[in-house]
Amino acid sequence: MKIGFIGLGNMGAPMARNLAAAGHDVAGFDTVAPCPAGVLEAASAAEAAKGADVVLTMLPNGAILRAVAAEVIPAMQPGAVLLDCSTVDVESARAVATMAEAAGCMAVDAPVSGGTGGADAGTLTFMAGGPDAAFAKVAPLFDVMGQKAVHCGDAGAGQAAKICNNMILGITMIATCEAFALADKLGLDRQKMFDVVSTSSGQSWSMNTYCPATGVGPKSPADNDYKPGFAAELMLKDLRLSQQAAEAVDADTPLGQAATGLYEQFVEAEGGAGKDFSAMLPRFVARGRHG
Ligand code: NAD
Repeated sequence: MKIGFIGLGNMGAPMARNLAAAGHDVAGFDTVAPCPAGVLEAASAAEAAKGADVVLTMLPNGAILRAVAAEVIPAMQPGAVLLDCSTVDVESARAVATMAEAAGCMAVDAPVSGGTGGADAGTLTFMAGGPDAAFAKVAPLFDVMGQKAVHCGDAGAGQAAKICNNMILGITMIATCEAFALADKLGLDRQKMFDVVSTSSGQSWSMNTYCPATGVGPKSPADNDYKPGFAAELMLKDLRLSQQAAEAVDADTPLGQAATGLYEQFVEAEGGAGKDFSAMLPRFVARGRHG
């Protein structure tokens, strides 16, 4: 396929490289980052989109996605698919889909889970929203860049699935860290705590697979000085998107709201920026009930 790839950052560069390595004809554009091996550099986003079957975007946020979409959609050929893999707000995903349809193109929102490691190894999970025909057209690209793609529904459904998943993740990570900090103060050994909870009803991905306690459970960022991994500020971004969406549809998400507040405090006032999101554990350990 002929692919235009816009946004060649930490995630986009390895994804574009994998598509080129699989034999696709990839033209790339980024305002700052260089093109990875095998990707032909385009002079502009519109240039990368010209004549492409699929235009893939991997950008920081919804405002930038909307601006890039406004530039590339007029350059796209009818029937081409705008495939956005960024994590953005549901409204931006839907607005971009409407713009694409009005121009005789199709759009798929397909945010990813799996991080830079998954992007590099081609093992991402995609959660997609958009028409069946568009999903079918881009499915072979998901096979190259990832190990699983779930078609979640119409435009915006991929972003909805992503923020709901990450809201659960943020909340369970905080719950797990809180419980470890309490267990410490109760004199409970962390390994014993893990042995019980990971096989009991308190288990979760945060405990079993990504344990925030150093030296306990499978290897995780806690065993690497809390270097990300999944950075706390990216968790904050996703939690904020979940609360923006909850506000828009009048959904009651008190724990999502509390998790957003805690990550905000951690990232903006407590030196959490640049640390893995599981570094909430030392944060809790360093505090008492009254601060
Ligand atoms: P990044 O900041 O490394 O990359 C974004 C790239 O977009 C940058 O290279 C930037 O120069 C480029 N860009 C910005 N504006 C542009 C424009 N107008 N035209 C062309 N290029 C432009 O971010 P990332 O870590 O690669 O993340 C990309 C997206 O994936 C984000 O939405 C993020 O939330 C999501 N995501 C990231 C991870 C992760 O672990 N990094 C995991 C899952 C999802």
